[in-house]
Amino acid sequence: MPGQKIRIAAIPGDGVGHDVVPAAAQVVREAGAASGVEVEVAFYNYGVLRYLEEGKPLPDDVPGLVRDLASRHDAILFGSAGLDPRQPPTVNCRDLLVGLRWVLDGYVNLRPAPLLHPRFCPLERKVPIDLVVIRENTEGVMTRIGGNFKKGTSDEVAIQEDINTYKGVERICRYAFEYARGHGYQKVTMADKHGSLIHAHGLWQRVFWATAEKHKDVEGEHRFIDTLCMELVQHPDRFGVIVTNNMYGDILSDLCAGLVGGVGLAGSGCINPGNISMFEPVHGTAPDIALKGIANPFAATLAGRIMLDHLGHRRAADLIWGAIQLAVKEDQVTGDLGGQLGTQAVTEFLCKAVHKLAGK
Ligand code: NAD
Ligand code: MN
Repeated sequence: MPGQKIRIAAIPGDGVGHDVVPAAAQVVREAGAASGVEVEVAFYNYGVLRYLEEGKPLPDDVPGLVRDLASRHDAILFGSAGLDPRQPPTVNCRDLLVGLRWVLDGYVNLRPAPLLHPRFCPLERKVPIDLVVIRENTEGVMTRIGGNFKKGTSDEVAIQEDINTYKGVERICRYAFEYARGHGYQKVTMADKHGSLIHAHGLWQRVFWATAEKHKDVEGEHRFIDTLCMELVQHPDRFGVIVTNNMYGDILSDLCAGLVGGVGLAGSGCINPGNISMFEPVHGTAPDIALKGIANPFAATLAGRIMLDHLGHRRAADLIWGAIQLAVKEDQVTGDLGGQLGTQAVTEFLCKAVHKLAGK
């Protein structure tokens, strides 16, 4: 709530995270200041810089590290993990990213895909787009349960299990309805394939409609995942909040990102509503442009916007959105968006813009 103080752990990680996380943290701080929220940001040196100093990118006890960070902060702003030109390819911050996702049980992967400007939409017919993909983030076919029998022979059998629990499906459906209610969306669309996956998605059907019954002010609707992909391309303006399982959500969130300008403009949250949550740009370490001062800070800053919104600071979150819209309108953007500016100049523009917008 305004007047409060929030404590953010900022972890640039590897590669371009070092360009965009300090930038995003600066904008988040200013948006907080412009709306009466004190944002305290502590930077943590894991990944490439730590490797260069100490020979190791991470402490040995990663789960312990995650729990320690969680006990001292309200949220984590993460950059990216992966290859960095300054370290051997085997050494990176990936274990921390995976640790953060699993130890914190961030079961909601929140991927808003709002259209910043019509020019970012590849569709010829321009319509307003404001999609939010809510992906179940801990179950489905991504649990790695399964195995291979007679591996490497022509008799090989490969089994990948699809795990769907009542608890997991119920909490993600409930989150989707509550998110829609709290953010002014009229309906929640659930995507599955229950005609074929009768057991797993039969559970999704029963749980989704029972959850819809408990949230009568928000309409529930269903689409088969394949149909939804087609309709999203034809009529993206007909959809808003979409909830789905881990794998469909993985694919759908990239489709939605593509409709509004690509993953370079996308922020995401890995949220556990009852615990500390993590926020990150969707893009990776961008080794081709990392550490050159030319990276686009929008995706990381949009992750900061989702973080502020999640923490209940809607005004600060809206200021960030307004500032980014203004930057696009006035062409105060980096090269990937056709502009002339570097990361720092865009960041300074955003910081000034949040104060300007707050003063209106
Ligand atoms: P990438 O997202 O790093 O880059 C894809 C393209 O987008 C590149 O051309 C890059 O220059 C551009 N790009 C990315 N971020 C940008 C920014 N902020 N501003 C301007 N342009 C930007 O994906 P990749 O090249 O497939 O992967 C590179 C590394 O990142 C790999 O090691 C991969 O494993 C890792 N990765 C990490 C994450 C994560 O940490 N969540 C996600 C994806 C990939
Ligand atoms: Mn993906």
